[in-house]
Amino acid sequence: MSHTPSLAIYGGKPTRNTFLPYGKQWIEEDDIRAVVEVLKGDFITTGPAIQAFEKKLAQYVGARYAVAFSSGTAALHAACYVAGIRSGDDVITTPLTFAATANCILYQGARPIFADIDPVTYNMDPAELERKMTARTKAVIPVHFTGQPAKLDEIRRLAKKHGLVVIEDAAHALGASYKGRKIGGDGDLTMFSFHPVKHVTSGEGGAVTTNRRDYYEKLLQFRSHGITREPAKMREREGPWFYQMQFLGFNYRLTDIQAALGLSQMNKLDSFLRLRRKYASMYNHAFRNKKGVTVPFQPEDVQSAWHLYVLRLRLPELTTDRKTIFHALLKENIGVNVHYIPVHLHPYYRRLGYTEGLCPHAELFYREAITLPLFPKMSEEDAQDVIKAVNKVIQYYSVRGVNGGC
Ligand SMILES: *Cc1c(COP(=O)(O)O)cnc(C)c1O
Repeated sequence: MSHTPSLAIYGGKPTRNTFLPYGKQWIEEDDIRAVVEVLKGDFITTGPAIQAFEKKLAQYVGARYAVAFSSGTAALHAACYVAGIRSGDDVITTPLTFAATANCILYQGARPIFADIDPVTYNMDPAELERKMTARTKAVIPVHFTGQPAKLDEIRRLAKKHGLVVIEDAAHALGASYKGRKIGGDGDLTMFSFHPVKHVTSGEGGAVTTNRRDYYEKLLQFRSHGITREPAKMREREGPWFYQMQFLGFNYRLTDIQAALGLSQMNKLDSFLRLRRKYASMYNHAFRNKKGVTVPFQPEDVQSAWHLYVLRLRLPELTTDRKTIFHALLKENIGVNVHYIPVHLHPYYRRLGYTEGLCPHAELFYREAITLPLFPKMSEEDAQDVIKAVNKVIQYYSVRGVNGGC
């Protein structure tokens, strides 16, 4: 039947000999030196490296304040706390995200409400957000899925009208911009993650940026058990040793060791972003007019940070399903992935009463999505291998006629 080379899944030669992961950190000698310097110094937790890292991040995104946390999840939890989310509240988010986004709502005893995605942008649909709002709605957590900013103007307008706090999950969006402004620079509260697959890493780590002084001070206090040592914040002061625990916080501190790595990585963020954009545009160019697949939608007024490159399969134009194509690409030694299983379909959420059919656009997207490898340390040849493998596999499973037989 075909002039296409035999797929590795059927015993053919794989497109490449070594496995290409979907994402990976890039640590160099200068990063290592920065960490070792801290280890030799006086502080290994909450010292000068934390402050320098926070300052660098705040400056980069254009926010007044940044507070570092032990993970992105901890950062998001803190943002939910300072936004005043508590038992009895509803918080609207997207189902197309990592479980942590909705889990943080549950940590606060509130109820996650899932607003379906826009089937074109894959981000939260503002019309769905409005449809899901009730008197109980306290906040909205949009996720800038894959690094492409959500429709912030619409979301903020609705939030303002209904008195909601907007907490942006920008775990994918460090360096992205919306209408000329960096994500994290002008929101109420914006969360970032420094997990190794994200744009810059501190091993584990996260941060919240904000322009509000009251949020900033509460975030700092939440990070350390709700404890303050500042005389101005206490009614009495029994002596120089005195501190007070004023609300229930956590130990969510990042170490200085990690902050040194994060700071060193921040110096490379723009070059990392350039490489991500270069590989993403190679993929866009290769797959734009290809039968059987849809490339990511790119609005005019936003610049994606390209954390992920998600190719969407057009299943009616293909003779098989996502699972087979996924397997076939793995056998070609291409480390594909799937982002995301809609949060409400996980067993824990089903036990809470969420059911299939709640967000049909996200559920359909899940059956058609494949994440291709995208990280700054990959080479142009690696990206070419991905393109070759996708072409080979999609060609093989194309409905003849639809693909013009070529
Ligand atoms: C990575 C990620 C998180 C959580 O960040 P951690 O640092 O892993 O805790 C939250 N939301 C999204 C969308 C993420 O991708």
